[in-house]
Amino acid sequence: MFDLIIKNARLIDGSGAPSFEGALAVKDGRIAKIWHGRPEETAEAAETFDAAGKVLSPGFIDIHCHSDETFYDYPTAESKILQGVTTDVGGNCGISLAPLRQEYKDLLRSYVGPAPYEWESFGEFLDYVETQVRPSENFACGVGHGAIRIAAMGFEPRKATAAEMEDMKAMLRASFDEGAYFLSSGLIYAPGTFADEEELTDLSRVAAQYGTFYATHMRNENLHIFDALPEAIRIAENSGASLQISHHKLIRREMWGRSTETLQLIEDARNRGVDAWADQYPYIASSTYYASNLPSWVYEGGVPALLARLADPVTRARILKETEEICHGRWGDIFLGYAKHPDDKKYIGKSTEEIAEMMGVTPAEACLSIVTRNGNDASEVNFGMCEEDVERIMQAPFVMTGSDGWCYGLDFPGKPHPRSYGAFPRVLGHYCRERGLFPLETAVHKMTGMPAKRMGFADRGLLKEGNWADLCVFDPQTIIDDPTYLDPCRPCSGIARVYVNGVLTAENGVHTGARSGQVLRRKY
Ligand SMILES: [Zn+2]
Repeated sequence: MFDLIIKNARLIDGSGAPSFEGALAVKDGRIAKIWHGRPEETAEAAETFDAAGKVLSPGFIDIHCHSDETFYDYPTAESKILQGVTTDVGGNCGISLAPLRQEYKDLLRSYVGPAPYEWESFGEFLDYVETQVRPSENFACGVGHGAIRIAAMGFEPRKATAAEMEDMKAMLRASFDEGAYFLSSGLIYAPGTFADEEELTDLSRVAAQYGTFYATHMRNENLHIFDALPEAIRIAENSGASLQISHHKLIRREMWGRSTETLQLIEDARNRGVDAWADQYPYIASSTYYASNLPSWVYEGGVPALLARLADPVTRARILKETEEICHGRWGDIFLGYAKHPDDKKYIGKSTEEIAEMMGVTPAEACLSIVTRNGNDASEVNFGMCEEDVERIMQAPFVMTGSDGWCYGLDFPGKPHPRSYGAFPRVLGHYCRERGLFPLETAVHKMTGMPAKRMGFADRGLLKEGNWADLCVFDPQTIIDDPTYLDPCRPCSGIARVYVNGVLTAENGVHTGARSGQVLRRKY
């Protein structure tokens, strides 16, 4: 007697292999049986679901997200579950919420945002997620270089001393021992931006010793990407660590079309034996902190120091001038996605150019006044990429899907980047079905089997007997990303059912309230 049988489905197993008509049975949270064609006559289940005309695939694995910043408020993770994601991978872009040292707790809170911070070690953080957050999705996490650097030396804008390096390496080892999956860096953000190549190579050696990867939000993704990408590749090559280029893209009109060259650099590295991969979100707009438009030196010492600089008229004038130079000609592309301060709610969804008009000041002035009121509690949506690059990168055989999004509810008060709600159906519906970039089996592989292998998940990401029953049942003719830039906080169409560890968690765009996710810990 099984708990569930899904029959008459087109099974796409996540490996990239051709689909087949069949059925699948679940027992005690795991895939108990897979049939080609019909289940045998004697097979019985507490529930049978007829999936005629639909695809049954593994639940999607979001290898690049930031849900570890938001799931305290949104444990049901509707933005993710309602697009078929069953496993979220946090700790990306150098930002993880552990390890943490109490003396820097307030600095970290001002930087990352409100989380409980009732932990110190990485293991304690995972325990907290497991017992207190209990999210609807499975959760795996990397350890951020920024987190261990803050724990070792705060937001100091200088080279780490030998003692600080040893301290960071010890924290990194402890985090791996306690279940962290990989090391990440975010080199446009403080304090990652203060680290040199040597520091990152030294730390990546620890990742190499553990046999895991170094994931990087590179130092630059626009005019200087041809310095930043070779740096990332050198760090992998010199440390022996495997490499994951995070959310690969080219921003700024001047760089459009040059993904042929960036992909070639990664391909060349692979041919030299570097285990290099990349992930990507399927949009021409990016999203980050609104304050990232300011020059990076203003972050020295963290957000309180940033606000103090903005309060000083002489320093503010310098910041204003440099911000205008950095963003000149692009203010019309930089939209306010979210701002915490009540006075700024009316600007959400507007470009900085429009906001400036409403305020009656220059765009750089408008930008600074929003940062002054919100610190890091404001985000932007920035239209800087072109479709040609997005599609070319997506088709590369070493590129997988990752939303770079957050888990939110449908009631999130703002217009965040729609990638948090629609990245996966957008690849399946728009890029696969409408644009015909690749077969459906390839699209599914990029969001299931490929990231599972990358993460070392032995029993997820494939439809295989014995694996956990993380499942997505969707209609390949109708699946699409309804969430848009103007109306992002919505479910996606075409997803009939989502199961997490065998538990029905969403049905036809409605969350069931189930919270059956597991916290995953890597064992080395
Ligand atoms: Zn990033």
